[in-house]
Amino acid sequence: MEPIRFQKNEAAAQAIQTYYGRRPYVFTRSFGCQQSVNDGEKITGVLVDLGFGVCEEEEQADLIVFNTCAVREHAEHRVFGNIGALKTLKEKNPHLLIAVCGCMTQQESVVEKLKKSYPYVDIVFGTNGIDLLPGLILEKLTDRKRVLPKPVERRDIVEEIPIRRDSSYRAFLPIMYGCDNFCSYCIVPYVRGRERSRKSADILAEFCQLVDAGYKDITLLGQNVNSYGKGLDEEIDFSRLLQMLDQIPGDHRIRFMTSHPKDATYQLVDTIAQSQHISHHFHLPVQSGSNEILQKMNRKYTVESYLDLIHYAKERVPDMTYSSDIIVGFPGETEEDFRRTEALVREVEYMQLFTFIYSKRGGTVAATLPDDTPHKEKADRIARLIAIQDEIVDKLTQKMLGTTVKVLVEGPGRKEGVFTGRLDNNMVVEFEGDAPEGQFAQILLTSAKGAVLKGNLIK
Ligand code: SAH
Ligand code: SF4
Repeated sequence: MEPIRFQKNEAAAQAIQTYYGRRPYVFTRSFGCQQSVNDGEKITGVLVDLGFGVCEEEEQADLIVFNTCAVREHAEHRVFGNIGALKTLKEKNPHLLIAVCGCMTQQESVVEKLKKSYPYVDIVFGTNGIDLLPGLILEKLTDRKRVLPKPVERRDIVEEIPIRRDSSYRAFLPIMYGCDNFCSYCIVPYVRGRERSRKSADILAEFCQLVDAGYKDITLLGQNVNSYGKGLDEEIDFSRLLQMLDQIPGDHRIRFMTSHPKDATYQLVDTIAQSQHISHHFHLPVQSGSNEILQKMNRKYTVESYLDLIHYAKERVPDMTYSSDIIVGFPGETEEDFRRTEALVREVEYMQLFTFIYSKRGGTVAATLPDDTPHKEKADRIARLIAIQDEIVDKLTQKMLGTTVKVLVEGPGRKEGVFTGRLDNNMVVEFEGDAPEGQFAQILLTSAKGAVLKGNLIK
C-alpha cells in the first residue's frame, strides 16, 4: 500500500487563529516507550505547523496533549492521575483544550471512562491518527462539542508528518509500526495494530536528513525490527536495510530496537560485525529463562536457541554488550522457573536489565490464566534478580576501567565541573572537563559506581 503524504490543514490553522486570537501554546507530554516519544515529537510538530508555540509548563498551555502508554497497569493509573490533575487548570482557563491520545485511547473502555468521568477532556485520538489531529481540533472548534470517537485500527502509513525533535543530536527513526506477535501478556498488538513497514526509500531519506542536520545517535524503532520488510513491494529485510543505512558517511552511530529473539539471525550479528556505524550493543529481550514460561508467553523460541545466538554474537563481536527485558511473576511461574531465569541472567551477563513484575492486561490471552503467586513472592523475586544484576554490572564495569571509550556528550551534569555523556549502549559516563554537547569525546575510564562510569576527558 502506498503511504499517505501529510498535508497541512489550512482551515484548522485558520480556526485556531480565530479561537485564540493570538499565538497559542501547546504542552505535549509522552508516557512510555521510544515509539511513544517519537509520536509525541510528531504531535508537537503538527501543532507547531498549525501555528502553536511550545511551552514547558502545563500552566502556560492553551492546548495540553497527553500521549499515553498502556503496557502495564501502573502506567495507566499514572496517566489517569495526571489527567485528573488538569481539572483545576481547565476551571481557571476555559479556553484550554485537552487532548488525550496514544496506546490507552486505542481501548474502547478507556475512551468510555474519559467520556464519563473526565468531562474536561476535549479530544481523543489513537496511535495512528497524528495527521488527523488538525481535523479533530477544527471539528471541536466548529461544533463546540467534545470529539471522542470510538477507537479504530488504521493501517495507513503517513509520511512527511512535521516533527519537532526533543534533541538536536539524538533521534528516533521508526522503520515499522504495529506488531503481529501477540506475546500472550502484551497489549501492544491490540493498541498499535498490525505490523507494517515503511518503504526503505522513505527511511533512507529521513536518515540522510538526520545525518545532514548533525544527528550523532540514530535509533531505528520497531516492535520487532527483525521482521522489517514483510509486505513491502521491494526485496528487503532488516539486515539489508542496516547495510544500506551503514553506507551513509558521517560521524554518527546507528542503534536499533527491539529485536525479537525468534527472528534475530546470525546474519544480523554478521551485519553488526562488519558495519562502520552500528553500535556494538544488542538489546535482545528474553522475558524468561524457563522454556515452559516462554511457551506460555507465546515467544516462539527456547532458552537454548536464545543462548546459541548470544554465544555466536559473543564470539563474532567480542566487545558487544547486551541488554534484556524480563517479566517476573508471569501466571504460573514457579520458583524453579524463576531460578532458570536467574541462571540465564548469570550466564549472559547483561550490561542492562529492564525488569517488570507481570501486569495483567485485559483482552490478552495471559489475562485468562490462573495466577496464584502472591504479589509479595513476585516482589521478592524481582529484588533477587536486581541484586544479581547489580553484581554483574559491577563485574563488567570493573573490567572496563583503564580503557578509553567514545561517549556522546550530553552537557554539564549536576556537579560543578562534571560533564555527562553516554556510551553507545546507553550507559552514563561522568567526566571532568569541558566538551561540547552533542559531540563525541574520548574518555579514559577511572572508576565506576553501580552502572555509572567515571573518567577523564582525553584532549
Ligand atoms: N516489542 C518489544 C517491546 C514491548 S513492551 C519487545 O518485544 O521486546 C516492552 C517490555 O514491556 C516487554 O519487553 C516486556 O518485558 C514488558 N511488558 C510487556 N507487557 C507486559 C505486561 N503485561 N506486564 C509486565 N511487563 C510487560
Ligand atoms: Fe508485545 Fe511481543 Fe509484540 Fe513485543 S513482540 S510488542 S512483547 S507482542
